[in-house]
Formats: sequence, structure tokens, C-alpha cells
Amino acid sequence: MSSGKHVVVIPFPFSSHAWALVNLVLKLAPAAPDVRFSFLNIAKSNSLIFPPPLRAKLPSNVRVYEVSDGLPDGHCRPMEHTGEHVELFLKAAPENFRAAVDEAEQDVRKKVSCFLTDTLVIFAGEMAEKMQVPWVALWVPAPYCLAAHVYIDIISELHCESSGGGTSTDNDNDDDKSLRVIPGLSMMRISDLPKELIDDQDTSRSACMLREVGRVLPCGATAVVMNSYAEVTPTPLIADLKSKFKMLLQVGCLTVSFPPLPLPSSSTSDTTGCLTWLNARYPQSVAYICFGTVAMPSPSEVSAIGEALESTNTPFLWSIKERTMAFLPVGLQERTSAYGKFVPWAPQAQVLSHPACGVYVTHCGYNSMFESVVGGVPMVCKPFWADNMMNGRMIEEVWGIGVKVKGGTITKSGMEKALEVVLRGEDGKEMRKKAGELRERLVKAAGPNGIAEADFKVLVKLIST
Ligand code: UDP
Repeated sequence: MSSGKHVVVIPFPFSSHAWALVNLVLKLAPAAPDVRFSFLNIAKSNSLIFPPPLRAKLPSNVRVYEVSDGLPDGHCRPMEHTGEHVELFLKAAPENFRAAVDEAEQDVRKKVSCFLTDTLVIFAGEMAEKMQVPWVALWVPAPYCLAAHVYIDIISELHCESSGGGTSTDNDNDDDKSLRVIPGLSMMRISDLPKELIDDQDTSRSACMLREVGRVLPCGATAVVMNSYAEVTPTPLIADLKSKFKMLLQVGCLTVSFPPLPLPSSSTSDTTGCLTWLNARYPQSVAYICFGTVAMPSPSEVSAIGEALESTNTPFLWSIKERTMAFLPVGLQERTSAYGKFVPWAPQAQVLSHPACGVYVTHCGYNSMFESVVGGVPMVCKPFWADNMMNGRMIEEVWGIGVKVKGGTITKSGMEKALEVVLRGEDGKEMRKKAGELRERLVKAAGPNGIAEADFKVLVKLIST
């Protein structure tokens, strides 16, 4: 039996959320060797984040448990129906997790001393409260998204006041839809927020959970840990968030390293041959296209991207989901085979840090955005959902390291122009320079004198004592 504490860890098992928490636990485990970490997760997510080589090398104080995902027996809808799966998962919680906590307590022969969970697993806050132990909540997206959740009531009022709320476009300059009344969010607009957050008519469990997060955290969480670097977060935003929570720690971008290390889920062996293929390309010549683990462009957008790549003869590497391949222009694969490559999965962090990578056509996921910055690669942005729109705003308007597709929808001519600007134009050179400068700030922030290192030590103490 361990002499130390027993921390239950619960990730949010959809999209790429779980990776940040896994990486945090893998960093905490050696720093707090007396603490036992019981990682409770659904089987599907565990199989993605703990591939066999990693599972075999897990630190001895980390044990992985499987929890029911809430899907009825015989449920055969594929995992990409994420919305439906999230609903079933939330419906099954927290009972399934109570059983897993009991199992872990029996294994360790020690009561749980702390819950370390994704913030979206808000039921863990109630479990922790009942067990009278701390709840440490990891906020995976960007800090500015957390501010939007915390100020949800003010934002809802603004949304009601503004006519036709939530329908504004990128060209909409209607000031009353700016979020400047929220500290640190002057650059954001209501249209940048996920619609589930502001649409109180949406009574799905996931939408209710999203609207609850910002209300529950200030009193419920012993500490909020952010997957970000204080040094690249606007000071007024951090000062305000610090005033809202009992404790706010920024432990660095947990899925990003300099230079990139393989993620738990990605292959180090480059099974799809992306890096070898890139080795044969000119520096900064290739467009890398990928929209993350969940987002799906429409059939006409897939077709438009293909047509634009072909008409501009742009060398490209496209990480494309198999079911999306059907929307490519007929014969495109054969016609572009000399300069284009399609793969179902790419070792993205390494791809974006490859010298041949010239532009990233992205959905503006939080991990992807920083992987692009680490590679110094400017972006063409097509945000889809969740935090994508806010990230896109930062990329284009605040950091100046990319452009959003005009009108929010990818067209052939829009993509041709965006590739021209970012991959071949003078503006693109400037964006690349700015991405490099942001990278340097991140490298410094990730160093031994950065705030992340100090905050991590505070976190180790918090979970160990
Ligand atoms: N990813 C990858 N290869 C792919 C597609 C995605 O390695 O072919 C990884 C990518 O590097 C990133 C993560 O999947 O770390 C996607 O996370 P992000 O936050 O950008 O988007 P999400 O999938 O959560 O929408």
C-alpha cells in the first residue's frame, strides 16, 4: 500500500481533450512518486490515448481503469457521431464513475484524496464535494474561452439584446456584439462563441453542461489548472480570471513540446510515410491540410480544397478521414499523385515542424494551432465549432499568423487566394516571421524560469499534501 495520496483522474473522453490530461498525469507521476493516480476513462478513449507501447511503459503509480461509456449494448453508431455519444456518456455519469472509484479505492486500499479531472467533467466536482476532497479542474482550451464561460450570464444578456443573435458574420461590425465588456475579450465577438454556449433553448446535456461550467468552477474547484502559458496570455485576462477562482495555475501547453515529441496517440514510426514524403519537397512549399479529430468540412468544401490545390499545382499533404474521400473531385488523386499525398492520419506535430511545410489549412483546434506555431507555420483558418472561432480570431487579428477563409465557407477561389497570400505572398512571409516570434516566446515560457514550471510545483504540492 502506498504511503501517499490517492488521486482519481477523469478525462473528458471526446475529441482530443484527454491528451492534455494524460500528459499532465505523466508529468505529475514522477514528480509525486508517493501519489497513486487512478485514471478512469471509457475503453474507446483509453485505447486511443494509451496505445500498447505507452501502456507498457506507464509509471508504476499510474493505473488505468475502464468505465462504461453509457452506450446501450449493440449500439453500433460509429464514434464520429460524437454529439450522440457525449449525451449517452453524460447520462450514464456519475454512477459509472462511482463504481470505478470504489474499485480503485479497493485496489489501492486508500480513500481518494483528490479529484483531478477535465473541467467538462463537472459531475466530478459534486463527487469531490460529497467526499470532502479537493477538485482540481484542468481547463484544456485557451484561457480566453474560459473567460467566455465565466461571464456566460453577461454574454447571454448581450446576446438577447443584439438582434438576430449568433448570426453575425465575419464582416459584421455591429459593435454591440463585441465582447469588450468582458475583461480581456475586447477582440472577441458573440459570433466567435460556440452556439451551445449562448443558445439557452438547447437543452441537450452537453449544452447545459457547457453553460454550467463557468458557474460551477469559481466556488466548486479548489484549483483551476490551465493548459497554457501565462507569458503568452494577455495580462488583464489572467488578472481577472485569477480574481474569479480560489486558485489558478498555468502549467504550459501540455500537448506541445519544443521540438515536438510524439503524442501518446500518434505513431513515432510514421507509418503513413508523411515525413519521408516531405523530405523530398522544397522548403516551405507544402500545404498541410487537416481539420482535427472531429470536424468535417462539407462535401462542397472538400471538393473546393481539392480543386484549388490542383489549379494552383500546390504540393500538399492531406490528413483526410476516409468517409470524406468520396467528396474529392473525380480523378483528383490520380491527377495530383506527383505532388499530393492523402493519409488517414499524420504525425501532425512532426509534419508541422518539417522544413517543407509552408502553410497549414486548419480548423483552429487549440492543439493544432500551437503545433503550427511550434513549426513556425502560418495558417489558413476554417473554424468549425467549440473554441475554433475564438482561436481563429487570435490567429488572424491578434497574432497575425494566418488568415480566415472569407465568408466562413471554403470555396475554390477563396482557397486559391488564401494559398497565394499565405504560401507564396509577402504577407505570408510576415505571418511566418510572427509565428516564429510567438514560438520564441513559448520556448522561453516553457523554460526553467517560466511561470509554468513554478505553477507545476504548486500543483504537485496541492495533490501530494
Ligand atoms: N492529429 C494528428 N494527426 C492527424 C489529425 C490530428 O496528430 O492526422 C492531432 C493533432 O496533432 C492535434 C490533435 O490531433 O494534436 C487535434 O487536436 P485539436 O485540439 O487541434 O483539435 P480537435 O481534434 O480537438 O478538434
